[in-house]
Amino acid sequence: MNDFSQRFLFDDTDVRGEMVALRESYAHVLAKHAYPQAVAQLLGEMMAAAALLVGTLKFDGLLVLQARAEGPLSLLMVECSSARELRGIARYDAERIGADVDADLQSLMPNGVLAITIDPTRGQRYQGIVDLDGADLAECLSNYFASSEQLPTRFWLKADGQRARGLLLQQLPPHHQTEPQERAESWNHVLTLADTLTAEELLGLDNPTLLHRLYHEENVRLFDEQPLQFRCSCSRERSAGALASLGQADAEQLLAEQGGSVEIDCQFCNERYAFDAADIAQLFAGAGSEAPSQTRH
Ligand SMILES: [Zn+2]
Repeated sequence: MNDFSQRFLFDDTDVRGEMVALRESYAHVLAKHAYPQAVAQLLGEMMAAAALLVGTLKFDGLLVLQARAEGPLSLLMVECSSARELRGIARYDAERIGADVDADLQSLMPNGVLAITIDPTRGQRYQGIVDLDGADLAECLSNYFASSEQLPTRFWLKADGQRARGLLLQQLPPHHQTEPQERAESWNHVLTLADTLTAEELLGLDNPTLLHRLYHEENVRLFDEQPLQFRCSCSRERSAGALASLGQADAEQLLAEQGGSVEIDCQFCNERYAFDAADIAQLFAGAGSEAPSQTRH
């Protein structure tokens, strides 16, 4: 399996972990645009982060990570659904990024903010926001958890344009260990070991080897691999809905401006949805209340 996450649990301490490896879904996202290497790396790290977060949450719906900033990389956005389907996009100024593959987060995205949105199928939408002021994306996400009323959580993320990998550790409520100092020592111990991981190890080792490398002195249980895949949630119906929301007058004006066919491109997957005069007339037929049922390609 090329794309999956896998959780693990320490038997004697109140810590759990999650690891993610992405290859095909990452290739799908990168195939849609000619991203500069530095952007491709950050996008991969964000994909890994989104998959890790979905792995730790119990919900039905969509998790969205969105980083906005001044600077050459203005937007990074990744969505991962509870069905474990991922898509992602970046907006950037190619000239300002240049060929510097080692450009770091702060030079690419100065004065940025990172929004974490959980959009459940049913129930309240939740959004948390943190400044994008860490050395890298992993540090920003770790800061977010440290600053919010959530379980202490740390992230390690790495991507190289072909592989995107991530590791998450989370301290659970007291169960095996109740004494605060003992809990703190155990937590710091697993973090310190994880901090010794090199980029090559995180990118290159399979999960059992990686866990053994870090925690061979602990009792760790590794659970089954959970598959992840690229999938775009765009559709002709959704594009028609966006067009309908403009109102008939504006949609017809757009049609005239664009020479008889309104084309809506999906920025995530480059799919193009075209609507001609007949489509638009049908869209607003019956006082515009009826959604179009006809699907065409
Ligand atoms: Zn799409």
